[in-house]
Amino acid sequence: MTALHDVINPATELVEASVPSLSLEDTDAAIARARRAYATWRHVSPGDRARLLRRLSVLLDEHNEELAQLEVRNAGHTIGNARWEAGNIRDVFAYYSGAPERLLGQQIPVAGGVNITFHEPLGVVGVIVPWNFPMPILGWGIAPALAAGNTVVVKPAELTPLTAMRVGELALDAGFPEGVLQVLTGKGSVVGERFVTHPDVAKVVFTGSTEVGVHVAEGCARQVKPVTLELGGKSANVIFADSDLAKAAAAAPGGVFDNSGQDCCARSRILIERKVMDEFLELLEPAVMAVRVDNPNLTTTDMGPLISAGHLERVASFVDETTNVLMRGTVPDGPGYWYPPTVVLASSRADRLLHEEVFGPVVTVVPFDDEADAIALANATDFGLSGSIWTRDVGRALRVSRGIESGNLSVNSHSSVRYWTPFGGFKKSGLGRELGPNALEAFTEVKNVFISTDT
Ligand code: NAP
Ligand code: MG
Repeated sequence: MTALHDVINPATELVEASVPSLSLEDTDAAIARARRAYATWRHVSPGDRARLLRRLSVLLDEHNEELAQLEVRNAGHTIGNARWEAGNIRDVFAYYSGAPERLLGQQIPVAGGVNITFHEPLGVVGVIVPWNFPMPILGWGIAPALAAGNTVVVKPAELTPLTAMRVGELALDAGFPEGVLQVLTGKGSVVGERFVTHPDVAKVVFTGSTEVGVHVAEGCARQVKPVTLELGGKSANVIFADSDLAKAAAAAPGGVFDNSGQDCCARSRILIERKVMDEFLELLEPAVMAVRVDNPNLTTTDMGPLISAGHLERVASFVDETTNVLMRGTVPDGPGYWYPPTVVLASSRADRLLHEEVFGPVVTVVPFDDEADAIALANATDFGLSGSIWTRDVGRALRVSRGIESGNLSVNSHSSVRYWTPFGGFKKSGLGRELGPNALEAFTEVKNVFISTDT
């Protein structure tokens, strides 16, 4: 009998559901089904594959509210965020439904014949998803993989499998053949690990911690298996004295506390030009105190609970009596894994809060002296995922954007993820890019064919 695993609602601490924890044998059987399904799926015409992706997008739209509510119960996301997330996976499917008929090769001039390239699917793709954005990250992996003609096995995080399971059901309702998309619930060390070691899984897409990502990459290297990694971050929110300080201060809490700071793109370091630091902190305080931490079902709530008791303990361990806490919000009473929005001043540039990913609502402020210092400080991290630059000087905005070693930057805003633009990290934040017009390349191999025209 398959073991079961309880899924907990992080806002109530009550059991929301019990889901199967699949074994190695279950995983191998699913990979074998995916392999069999690939033999026919890869030959489904581009137009028919596109139609299935579009149908799933329509179903995801029809079930937007149901999926959003499910995510609120499973992950404690605010209802507003959860609706956006369900909309994101819908849009990602709609976007990549345009891809099958546009997977163009090249015709390259050669003597004595014709040379053409094909973008061949890889086979079975394994997608490993973390708990922080269960629906979007699911979609970023599976939609382009399916569009390119691969079959997919997905492992959601043990803590947050419910929306992925529902998306898997909707895919069958949309008409995807059995075995083309399978959602396998269970432990990373069992199911996820098997995607890495199984020779019939042709590629792994992993999003999660740098530690597990390195382990996944090592395993893939042994089989020369391609891998995409989306890992951690310690992104800088760089605020220059010449910026609209009021606007920068008003936006800073959203840039780090959204999703309770459980965001790989969280701007968890505020780099502020020294001469305006006091003025900025005065403007920041009311914005931080206005962040409403409450029942995630309320549309007035800005921030819900953390994902689990274990994660709450980890986040809390970063702030102790030696930490210089500048501002701290409040949390509701009663059950739930709550942690308040917290702003701290770095004790020095070596402070662990400037280097380790908290993955919670804690932001660390550090002053800088000039533009060169700002760039150096922004780059004084192993990570390079995201970041923001606030300035009214266009030249400076571009110089600093080019100077920061990071995959996704925004100027005078905190936006960094759009499904139609590339997303991914420099340095230890990852390997490869997801989303955008070129994502299919990561799910295909280029084949070059020369045809002789000699008589
Ligand atoms: P995690 O512990 O690395 O887990 C991520 C996924 O990997 C989960 O599904 C997990 O399964 C699975 N896993 C665990 N051990 C594995 C193994 N040995 N082999 C294969 N898979 C394994 O990370 P997390 O705690 O869930 O998520 C937080 C981290 O993700 C943060 O560091 C954050 O920055 C990063 N993240 C990055 C991005 C990005 O796009 N760059 C996006 C979101 C999150 P179980 O947990 O179910 O066992
Ligand atoms: Mg983990």
